[in-house]
Amino acid sequence: MSHSLQALDRAHHLHPFTDFKALGEEGSRIITHAEGVYIHDSEGHRILDGMAGLWCVNLGYGREELVAAASAQMRELPYYNNFFKTTHPPAVKLAETLCRLAPPHVNHVFFTGSGSEANDTVLRMVRRFWALQGKPRKQWVVARENAYHGSTVAGMSLGGMAPMHAQGGPLVPGIAHVRQPYWFDEGRGRDPVAFGRECAAAIEAKIQELGEDNVAAFIAEPVQGAGGAIIPPESYWPAVKTVLAKHDILLVVDEVICGFGRLGEWFGSQHYDLEPDLMPIAKGLSSGYLPIGGVLVGDRVADTLIEAGGEFFHGFTYSGHPVCAAVALKNLELMETEDVVERVRDDIGPYLAKRWGELTDHPLVGEARSLGLIGALELIDPACGERFPKTWGAGNLCRDISFAAGLVMRSVGDTMIISPPLVITREQVDELVGLARQALDETAERLAHQPHTKEKSA
Ligand SMILES: *Cc1c(COP(=O)(O)O)cnc(C)c1O
Repeated sequence: MSHSLQALDRAHHLHPFTDFKALGEEGSRIITHAEGVYIHDSEGHRILDGMAGLWCVNLGYGREELVAAASAQMRELPYYNNFFKTTHPPAVKLAETLCRLAPPHVNHVFFTGSGSEANDTVLRMVRRFWALQGKPRKQWVVARENAYHGSTVAGMSLGGMAPMHAQGGPLVPGIAHVRQPYWFDEGRGRDPVAFGRECAAAIEAKIQELGEDNVAAFIAEPVQGAGGAIIPPESYWPAVKTVLAKHDILLVVDEVICGFGRLGEWFGSQHYDLEPDLMPIAKGLSSGYLPIGGVLVGDRVADTLIEAGGEFFHGFTYSGHPVCAAVALKNLELMETEDVVERVRDDIGPYLAKRWGELTDHPLVGEARSLGLIGALELIDPACGERFPKTWGAGNLCRDISFAAGLVMRSVGDTMIISPPLVITREQVDELVGLARQALDETAERLAHQPHTKEKSA
């Protein structure tokens, strides 16, 4: 079966974020089924999914309750839209539940089909908000280098991924990027507190450069996910809040990864004590069982949009799709009844921090960090304590070795990242850390055969 599927895959399927040619030569791994925190491939391997799919399968695989919620809703009402003054029970109930879980000043939600669409909606709302406030010149959005906000044109433009910008231009105009609070790569050896404040000061400098009257919003992930599980220094967010308040700039916190328990609170904003005006959500909202996203809208923006009257010419065929909404609702209900978020904060998050932190003793590891159930390892060359030459592809090598050993761990450059299902047990965390260490050992072994340090510095 594997070979014929691989051949058909090669013949017809263009994969996301993929070098089509290279994949055609190697062939893809076929994932056939999954349960709990494990995925299975067509060769009979069982692999611990340290990435929860793509940061989304928060309740783990095989949850019958979610399957039942989907099939019941499909029978009842498989589709209807929320355009033209109509609604349906799953969308209403999900909206109510989300607003109950969100910070108190958030009482509205606009549904989308994905996180990228949510960020397109953000851009539309931010501009409409300032137009209605009588400040139509407030158009610029300040975002960050190496941020990920999705892959539509707006999402990619808001994001700060250089390779995406290089292929995708011309970008949406009116978006400016500032430095990211990535201490390991850009501030190592310096006081993290001072470094965090400096990164916040870069936002203020950009606002001043553009002119406060021209800046609409600042957008950021609480912890950068796709950029490399980058946890900002503790001084960063308080300083950012001060800057935005001083200049009357809207705060957009992209909760697509950090929302729904990843950081041990319902939203990353709650961990960092933020009061965002807009919060794009997706991924963990449905534990990835069906595609659904949205934007949680704070009172300041919602009240303005509502009171002004006049149609908001924006929305998607699948905004608030009833089956997706029913599954998301059941997902949130299960998270509440099973105390998933509290468990991440008080038990399994701290346990992962302890076990993952032990990997610091590995010669290849320059830093092991985690918060809640997101974590990263920074790979360094033990010979010099610096990064390996980029051309060695140490991160990708470690990722492939890890996969073969039975653990999905992703690489971003030479940063290894994990974001396991929130329901992972302590025993499974032990297994994850053991497999990660095994992958590091094998990676070190393989890299030791590379021609060494002298040529590198040449
Ligand atoms: C994945 C992601 C998105 C995009 O979501 P899609 O559902 O893939 O469109 C946006 N923002 C962040 C922070 C993400 O991680």
